[in-house]
Amino acid sequence: MSLDLPAEVTRLRETVAGLHAELVRYQLVAWTAGNVSARVPGRDLMVIKPSGVSYDDLRPENMIVCDLDGVVVDGDLSPSSDTAAHAYVYRAMPEVGGVVHTHSGYATAWAARGEPIPCHLTAQADEFGGEIPVGPFALIGGDDIGKGIVATLSGHRSPAVLMRNHGVFTIGRDARAAVKAAVMCEDVARTAHLTRALGTPVPMARADIDSLYDRYQNVYGQPGARSTAR
Ligand SMILES: [Zn+2]
Repeated sequence: MSLDLPAEVTRLRETVAGLHAELVRYQLVAWTAGNVSARVPGRDLMVIKPSGVSYDDLRPENMIVCDLDGVVVDGDLSPSSDTAAHAYVYRAMPEVGGVVHTHSGYATAWAARGEPIPCHLTAQADEFGGEIPVGPFALIGGDDIGKGIVATLSGHRSPAVLMRNHGVFTIGRDARAAVKAAVMCEDVARTAHLTRALGTPVPMARADIDSLYDRYQNVYGQPGARSTAR
């Protein structure tokens, strides 16, 4: 298939293929589970991982271009089985430029219990602005997962949702930000698990969480780099 695709698609194929290596590097995925997508700016298109392809074999050229109904526009393979969920998020949340899904172990253990991750760490306050919420149980295939993600994250500070009995979905202004959120979600989920296992967490004041979140989102990092910091 050869269509009039914007040049941006070539760059995004490279970006999305490369970001899948980060899921492996941070040990967030097993076998072929997990996926990253990116919205094509200004177009009703997204770039997403093909279904069932080994992480070792992911290349820019085998990333799939879909429209925002999940219909393949360019690519030789079937898109990720989670394509409908990604597409629903892009349709409903215009500010979102990247979506990531993993079954990373510690975060998914919280999802399996249907328990939000309470905020007892400065790093969680920085990135998530409070607890990491739980979304509804939803079967794969239709719009139910996407609806659950959007219903939970709309108006919420957290860029991550623990979909009950399933795993983690994260959003970001671009795909890299969504990958960062997936990495940080697993990191705080692990520490929260250890904290719970060892004793009783010490609560943080809401005002301190708010202050940390505001500073991290607006001041932290190198000048000029903040737009890509999360
Ligand atoms: Zn899944």
